[in-house]
Amino acid sequence: MTSIGVGLIGTGYMGKCHALAWNGVKPVFGDGPKPRLVHLAEVSPELAARRAEEFGFEKSTSDWRALIADPEVEVVSVTTPNAFHAEMAIAALEAGKHVWCEKPMAVGFAEAERMVAAARASGKVTALGYNYIQNPVIRHIRKLLGEGAIGTVNHVRFEMDEDFMADPEALFYWKSEASSGYGALDDFGVHPLSLMQFLFGGVTRVMAQLSMPYADRPSRDGGRRKVETWDIASVLLELRNGASGAMALDRSAWGRKGRIAVQIFGSNGTIAYDQERMNEFQLFQASDAAAEQGFRTILTAPVHAPYDRFIPAPGHGLGFNELKIIECHELLKAIGGDAAAQIVGFEQGLEIERAVHAMAQSHREGRWVAVD
Ligand code: NAD
Repeated sequence: MTSIGVGLIGTGYMGKCHALAWNGVKPVFGDGPKPRLVHLAEVSPELAARRAEEFGFEKSTSDWRALIADPEVEVVSVTTPNAFHAEMAIAALEAGKHVWCEKPMAVGFAEAERMVAAARASGKVTALGYNYIQNPVIRHIRKLLGEGAIGTVNHVRFEMDEDFMADPEALFYWKSEASSGYGALDDFGVHPLSLMQFLFGGVTRVMAQLSMPYADRPSRDGGRRKVETWDIASVLLELRNGASGAMALDRSAWGRKGRIAVQIFGSNGTIAYDQERMNEFQLFQASDAAAEQGFRTILTAPVHAPYDRFIPAPGHGLGFNELKIIECHELLKAIGGDAAAQIVGFEQGLEIERAVHAMAQSHREGRWVAVD
């Protein structure tokens, strides 16, 4: 396969990110098929045409079904709000296309199960937008854990905080509607859960509490709308590897911009990482001489693949959009038949959804809930 026809539905924050990835993957990695940007869909013909011109797509439409029916489109990026993911992804799979769908996979668990069934029936490759597992730092942490660098992992703590919902007077938009899901749990929680799946094999039991700091928000029509989602979640966890854990999520945390803080405590050391400083991590090893014990800060460098594909010099740093280029490359590897490609397909994504819905059930019922 020398080229692959790409369709893109949605051109907001993530739509641009996918477009950058489709444009960047060949120059960065050199291998695999060259993406041919065939068709783009948006809500209006004008916006679709403008974005197609900006992003480099050949055709545009305001009818996403026309994009999916286009025989030149072989893989579809779904970057629309959560409520559309299942319908669009299933339609694309049924039309025989590979699918790269943004997170969260779906709003309801039954929808997510239908997505898995469609993926199985089509035999096509699916990938979800769990970009943080693509960070060379995270990959290196996984390698260190596998080598026993901090011994047996006993406890982990994951925090994900941002402040885009912190202002009580911030406008109501789709993330405050129940049609988008529970709120912080499936907007944020799925990211730490993808990291837990990648590093530890996932979670087995959860106990969650959800909170809604603001009951209503101003709406575009000048009135106020009742908030339908929870911006804050506090979760206790048990991991598949036997360790205990805690996850704290907050979309209304003033001052936090893109924090995914991870602490991994082992029998022989600790690893700490924060997505706000995504080009470094901290390693403490109890085996160091007592007089020199302390956290070492390790910066990313070409030795942490695939950093080397972007930059030959250490310490210069990758960014968020580059994680998406790596994710795109992994998707293309999977489409090319590489079983070792590091993507979260719909089957694995369903396990993340299972954990999210177990957390919501735990909140409703005020008790621990098993994820299996
Ligand atoms: P956004 O509002 O910026 O963009 C969504 C776009 O979809 C808009 O341009 C909108 O016009 C378009 N759209 C809506 N309905 C459409 C339709 N029927 N046909 C065609 N286009 C349509 O939203 P966003 O922040 O880009 O979020 C989109 C998705 O990406 C969400 O599911 C979100 O959870 C996810 N997301 C993932 C990450 C990540 O780190 N992986 C980060 C942010 C958002």
